[in-house]
Amino acid sequence: MFEALSGKLNGVFDRLRRRGALTEADVAEASREVRIALLEADVALPVVKDIVSKVRERAVGANVIKSVSPAQQVIKIVNDCLVEALGGGEGVEQAPPGISLQAASPVPILMIGLQGSGKTTTSGKIALRLRTRDKKKVLLASLDVHRPAAQLQLETLAKQAGVASLPIVAGQTPLQIAARAMEVARGELYDVVILDTAGRLSIDEALMDEVAAVKAATRPHESLLVVDAMTGQDAVQTARAFNERVGITGIVMTRVDGDARGGAALSMRAVTGAPIKLLGAGEKLEALEDFHPDRIASRILGMGDIVSLVEKAAETIDRAEAEKMAAKMQKGQFDLEDYASQLKQIGKMGSLSGILGMLPGIGKMKAQLENANLDNTLLKRQAAIIGSMTPKERRNPDILKASRKKRIAAGAGATVQDVNRLLKQFDDMSAMMKRMSKLGQKGLMRGGLG
Ligand code: GDP
Repeated sequence: MFEALSGKLNGVFDRLRRRGALTEADVAEASREVRIALLEADVALPVVKDIVSKVRERAVGANVIKSVSPAQQVIKIVNDCLVEALGGGEGVEQAPPGISLQAASPVPILMIGLQGSGKTTTSGKIALRLRTRDKKKVLLASLDVHRPAAQLQLETLAKQAGVASLPIVAGQTPLQIAARAMEVARGELYDVVILDTAGRLSIDEALMDEVAAVKAATRPHESLLVVDAMTGQDAVQTARAFNERVGITGIVMTRVDGDARGGAALSMRAVTGAPIKLLGAGEKLEALEDFHPDRIASRILGMGDIVSLVEKAAETIDRAEAEKMAAKMQKGQFDLEDYASQLKQIGKMGSLSGILGMLPGIGKMKAQLENANLDNTLLKRQAAIIGSMTPKERRNPDILKASRKKRIAAGAGATVQDVNRLLKQFDDMSAMMKRMSKLGQKGLMRGGLG
């Protein structure tokens, strides 16, 4: 998600960077281009208008700040506007990321959504996370009496997630199942009960009535609507309808690992009023992420998302190692040796394109990666190339002469072009990291400008 939008916005910023001082006409033109980029990303029209008018207003009214270039100032303004559209920003009351469990046990969580949105899978993902990360005792219950297969699917997912599922009793109504789930949870001291309601192919009154009745009976602490990011504006309209009719506390957007254009994420808050709380980024049960407006905005701007990357790495991999890596990245000391060990860890982290999307400089690498078949062969080859270098060369690849490159390529079963491609890619990455850490020091990406 977001690649196309990132590319477009980066183009706008590149053109701005080439100017010394920005005139009002530059800002007007940049706003126009931002508008087109957002529309092409399928952002809802009123939201586009709102973002663009804010960007223009703030860019024109901004005081010139000596320590940053005007283009950087515009990037910061666009960043802030995106963060706000995504439901974040200063002065906005922030719910903590992820779902809330601040209620008496057993905490009921209601899962709502259309069939195929990823609702059942997401129930399993949340259960796994609550068990492993929050150390909660979780009970999963399927209320889908229309599709017996759905109940069996949830039972299977519960096993995979290592949590209990409510025994299936044929012939019960959704309300009866919900009541039984709560009773079992109270009796057996469960912390959380996840109630997976039935889905339909499209919104209809019967579905709404059923979900509303279950909600009224169970008074869930969270009512999470699951929507498929790939369905774009339809997902936004679905969310609006469910919120108006049933009332939701948050949205989980799934399939963000696909090539959705990202507009739905940007429109969701403004159109529905409900916050996106979680993102589903793959079929595996581990592929669930907290939604951080500021980090998503920086991902859209193509600045990469080192924080998410490191966090994700820390969950899967050794925490101390990940922190060391983050510090190195920030100081611009990330070398080929570190890159090689990252490549090794990538396999453990699930979806490769998801991880790469978080790395800085990915825009430029993407074409190369697509040429080279975005799969593990490329990574293995790169690891082999780095493996054929001496430690000194890994720390300072600039010393590599043509003759050494040839030997390294031969040693790794690769070509000199492969070696050069790796070095170029690594250079791009390092340059981007340095730029990011500079921006960070100036407080551009985090705090205010002055
Ligand atoms: P439900 O009908 O809403 O319960 O949908 P399911 O949970 O059965 O999911 C439908 C399909 O989408 C399954 O094949 C899931 O593996 C897949 N799926 C769910 N979430 C994601 C996601 O975040 N990314 C991807 N790529 N696939 C997903």
